[in-house]
Amino acid sequence: MKFDIVSIFPAMVKAPLAEGVVGRAIGRGVIDVGVHDLRDFTIDLHRVVDDMPFGGGPGMVMKPEPFFAAVEHIRCERGTPDAIVLTSPDGARFAHQDAERLSGLGHVVLLCGRYEGVDERVRRHLATESLSIGDYVLSGGELPALVMLDAIARLVSGVVGDEESLARDSFVGGLLDYPQYTRPAVFQGHEVPAVLLSGHHAAIARWRRREALARTLARRPDLLDVAVLDENDRALLREIERGD
Ligand code: SAH
Repeated sequence: MKFDIVSIFPAMVKAPLAEGVVGRAIGRGVIDVGVHDLRDFTIDLHRVVDDMPFGGGPGMVMKPEPFFAAVEHIRCERGTPDAIVLTSPDGARFAHQDAERLSGLGHVVLLCGRYEGVDERVRRHLATESLSIGDYVLSGGELPALVMLDAIARLVSGVVGDEESLARDSFVGGLLDYPQYTRPAVFQGHEVPAVLLSGHHAAIARWRRREALARTLARRPDLLDVAVLDENDRALLREIERGD
């Protein structure tokens, strides 16, 4: 799968891409990430990417031309993208379902804004969608683009070594993940739940499912409305609600 990120701070984008699961996936050629300096697509001597807002008001707005030129360059050099995502706090909230949907595409472009944001014509006539990573305003789209790329890339086959660990992650099955423990079995007097040391696989699986359901009920009951639950899950939920 191909990604392209367009930003005025390419170094800020590149550094995290060198590390961890995503860094290794790039090294192995499972995903291919192009990082483009928006200023390379300006045509003036000073490489200006922003201008004053029409109608007045504070701050600067990012000009449309460099974004259109950057995407045209990507189209010529790397092929026509399947999605062009504008990072924006007023976009739709990026969620696991979006990561899944976008991971099924071959080529995704992520556009990073700065300043007061990006000329509206980029959203209307260049981007195919705009996405927000949450209800807060960051100083730029670089971190959101990296957040989205990471979440999408993890779902691309071959990026995460152990595919089974993906299936178990929070949100994937519609529930939060169960609590995880590792050695030591007793740490500062705090013990690991005995069932995990029992070696009884069925009992462990039941405990984990129950914990996942209990956590989801306590912290994110909204997820239970859409989660795929079977009869056993419903019985466990009744147990939890009764406080057994
Ligand atoms: N004035 C704008 C904020 C601009 S922040 C407003 O109030 O909506 C500058 C840039 O940072 C945005 O263009 C966008 O690319 C990025 N950004 C900031 N917060 C974001 C968020 N929560 N999700 C996605 N992108 C965000």
